[in-house]
Amino acid sequence: MSTYFILVGIFLFILGAVIGSFLNVLIYRTVQGESWVIGRSHCDHCHKKIAWYDNIPLLSFIFLKRKSRCCKKTISASYPVVEFMTGSLFVWWYWIGAVFFKLTIAPFSVLQPLFWLIVGVILIVIFFADLLYFIVPDLAVGIMFFMAVIYRLYLTGAGIMQPNDLWMTILGMICAVMFFMGLWWLTKGKGMGLGDIKLSAPMALLLGWPKVFVGIFLSFILGGLVASGLLISGKRKLGQVIPFGPFIIIGTILSLVWGEAIFTWYFQWL
Ligand SMILES: [Zn+2]
Repeated sequence: MSTYFILVGIFLFILGAVIGSFLNVLIYRTVQGESWVIGRSHCDHCHKKIAWYDNIPLLSFIFLKRKSRCCKKTISASYPVVEFMTGSLFVWWYWIGAVFFKLTIAPFSVLQPLFWLIVGVILIVIFFADLLYFIVPDLAVGIMFFMAVIYRLYLTGAGIMQPNDLWMTILGMICAVMFFMGLWWLTKGKGMGLGDIKLSAPMALLLGWPKVFVGIFLSFILGGLVASGLLISGKRKLGQVIPFGPFIIIGTILSLVWGEAIFTWYFQWL
């Protein structure tokens, strides 16, 4: 690895952490129904404005030892976690791009990786909004859906994807949405939220046929395992809400990477 490569990696991590810090504000303000642009960051507890030196991604959390300067209350760990994850996503994206797609050699192919980077950022927003506040932000899902539609149409138009595959992907999306709607109806909205139904549409478009089924399958296995774990350990009681969005997102990511392999592996037993 060259020094240049490492320096760019460090820069991208810092950039990602700064963007993660904005995402924190975005997530918080979306679920509180506040404006995205107006006003400075303020303390979650006493609503005093936060000075810039107490608002440095990752570092402020460490220097302040998890306590806010204004009212000495605990700062949510989700702040540094989102910052760290976004920073890591940027580095991972750069590493994958350079090593596997040789982007430094072929810079014209930057559009597709950029698409996935933005999708990754949106997935982080939805993941934490649902995990922390039980809300799947409509705007985030909308943007992702719009991007996924453009992406599929572009792939088909450019001849990378066959029109037949496009129809199969749309069919997969209809199946996924109807499946989640069915569950929502059966559980009277307790097992599934409307947000999960909406989320399943862009997820199906991103995954395509047949990976969409692997994604749904994995999210239910993960959701089931975590829910049983929480019940057995007494951390949650039966009937308490566990957000399902994060599992859909993890299932989607796993299926994006290994969906094809899992699908083939599964059906070789039939
Ligand atoms: Zn405070």
